[in-house]
Order: sequence, then C-alpha cells, then structure tokens
Amino acid sequence: MLSARAASLKPSATLAITAKEKALRAEGLDIVGFGAGEPDFDTPTHIKKAAIDAIMDGFTKYTPVGGIDPLKDAIIEKFKRDNDLDYKREEIVVSCGGKHSLYNLFQAIFQEGDEVIIPVPYWVSYPSMVELAGATPVFVETHEEEDYQLTAEMIRKHLTPKTKGIVLNYPSNPVGSVFFTENLEKIGKLAVEHNIYLISDEIYDKIAYDDYKHTSIASLGQPIKEITIITHAVSKTYAMTGWRIGFAAGPKHVIQAMTNIQSQSTSNPTSISQWAALAALRGPQDFVGTMVQEFVKRRDVFVSGLRSIEGVTCFNPQGAFYVFPGFKNLLGKAYKGRRVHNITEFAGVLLEDFHVAVVPGIEFGKEGYLRLSFATSMENVKKGLERIKKAVKALD
Ligand SMILES: *Cc1c(COP(=O)(O)O)cnc(C)c1O
Repeated sequence: MLSARAASLKPSATLAITAKEKALRAEGLDIVGFGAGEPDFDTPTHIKKAAIDAIMDGFTKYTPVGGIDPLKDAIIEKFKRDNDLDYKREEIVVSCGGKHSLYNLFQAIFQEGDEVIIPVPYWVSYPSMVELAGATPVFVETHEEEDYQLTAEMIRKHLTPKTKGIVLNYPSNPVGSVFFTENLEKIGKLAVEHNIYLISDEIYDKIAYDDYKHTSIASLGQPIKEITIITHAVSKTYAMTGWRIGFAAGPKHVIQAMTNIQSQSTSNPTSISQWAALAALRGPQDFVGTMVQEFVKRRDVFVSGLRSIEGVTCFNPQGAFYVFPGFKNLLGKAYKGRRVHNITEFAGVLLEDFHVAVVPGIEFGKEGYLRLSFATSMENVKKGLERIKKAVKALD
C-alpha cells in the first residue's frame, strides 16, 4: 500500500498538459501549444561549452553537497549586481533546480501544525510542497481588478498563531504580476513583527518588461533580510530548464538545514551543470536581453489580441512569459448545445475541437482564467489567437 502522503499527491498539472499536447501531436494533429513552462530558446553556446569543458577537465565526481565555491561566489555576485544584496558563502545553497530549492526549504522550516500563506493564483507546486512538509496552505485571493496586488492588510486577516511563512513570487507564474515596492515593504514589516518566514521565489527577476525594475523584498532592510529566503534558478533566465540548477539565499541556519536535507537525499546537484551555471551567471548577459525583447513582442500581440475578443479580459504581464486571460463573462454559455460550466471544460473544448492546448486557471487556484505561455513562436501566438476567437464565437 502507498503512503498517505503519496496517495493524496496530485501530479503537476502543467507537466501533465505538456505531455497530453505531445501525445496529440504524435497522432498527427496540428496542436498549438500554450502549455510550455520553459523558454523556447536554446541554451547559449558559451554555457554548453563550459559544460563540455567541465566533462573534459574531469569535473565528473561528487562536489560539496551545497555546490562548488566558485558557483556560490557567482551567485553572491549576481545578488550584489542585480539586487544590491550581500550574502556570504554559508548563506547560499545550490540545488537540483528552483523546485528542489523550494522543496528542501519547506522541509527545513515547515512541519505539522504550521500554516503557510500562499497568494492566489499560485505556482502549481507551492500547495503540494507545503502539504508534503506536513503543513497547511492558507490561500489569500488576489484580483485582476487590483493588479493582483497582495497587501499586508490582506495577509493580516489570515494570520493565526500557527502562521509560519508567506510565499511570494514576483514576477509571478501564472500571471506575470509584480508586487509594488510599498506593498512589499509593509508585508516585510508585518512578517518581522510576527516573526514569520518570507519565501521569495524570484526566478523571473530578469524576465521583466516595460519599466519594471525588480526589487527583492530581502533588500528592504536588514530585519526583513534576516527572515527571508530567496529561491532562484538558472532555468528560466538562461533557457536551462533541463540542466537542473537552482539556488537559495538566506539565513545561515536555514541554508545549513537545507544542505543537510540535500546531503541525505540527492547529494550535490550535477557537477557538470554547476560549471554550466557558473558560465551562465558570470558570462555575457546579452542573451537575456535578446530573449526578453522577443518575449515582449509576443506579449503585446497576445494581450491586445485577447482583449479584442468580446467578453475576455487580460492583465498585461510585467514579467515571466505567460498571459492569464479571464473568461468569467463567458462561462455558463453553451457550446454545441452543451453548457460550459467551468474553465476546465472550456480548456477541454479548446483542446479537443480547436486544437489549442492551455492550462486551466483552476490549477493555479483561479476559476475563470486560462494560462497561456508565450514561450512559443509569434506564428503560434497568432494562430492560437485566431482559434481562441473562433472558440469564443462558437459559444452561445
Ligand atoms: C519554473 C519555476 C520554478 C522551478 O524551476 P526549476 O529550476 O525548473 O525547478 C519555480 N518557481 C516558479 C514560479 C517557476 O515558474
């Protein structure tokens, strides 16, 4: 018999949809896929070369559990350069992807009886990871009409003596929303007052649009920094999802605990990937700018295309590579004589009859919305928009 822990665990919805998309394509169907949670760019050549060199130079053995010192130093430089934050080596741990950093972190700081505040819509894995640590997710709704802002007042309403942490993700997946600095300041103050950990997932800090300049909550004063753990990865910034390198920065005792958990599970992240990540962080950064320029063009076409469809709303993302259009006004209408009750049914219609693969917002805790990734070609964005328009027209 399976453990209760495993039996109640849902597989990642986004990975499941990408798999379904691939299966339908293998059947020969022309599917426009908006499920992808990874850049459609190739890893830059200088990074690949660093990995090849690492192999040839014999860096093919165990490394220190929490990562090699040169990579920790490059991560320290990144935080200084981008976020004006000072960390020491013992405040950094390298893991097998950003997801792994978050998993180890939750195992290190949460346990039975703890409550963890998660703003909605959320990245799919936070609630499951909180539960795997034995703790309970507490959801706080944010709204399109309010630019998906989370305020200290909203959090305060959900605080109990059991509250142990607040999970923040900005720019966010699935919305691409960011938190205004004045809100981060007040949230930070509240967390310090109540001695609550701040988990700050800043994996999209460099994938930012318009005049958004990322401010890490950890940079808003020493007391806030002391209760904040930033998680990050090279996965999205450098199109390195397959290499599996993530990292975390925070108080020494938390980082040590995460390293201990890692030492009893995965041991070090892949030695070769660590050298590649080092080249990514220390090498030329022009790749990121080029990718972001391409993303912004697709975002503009996507957002204006979606907004032009009657009944559809769409937040203009400030970062990451997703749009999160709202179909609330259209639910309850009929398609081919059958009522479309919820967004999952509409996503089913889109996939089956219009050959567009999307992720229903309910997977991120938000009914009435869809997540569409624009980490795909402009041609696909335009083709997909036409198909979504047709699908909406077919509702009555
Ligand atoms: C992709 C993603 C991660 C995990 O990234 P990996 O490095 O691939 O594990 C974590 N948080 C958010 C919000 C993401 O979108």
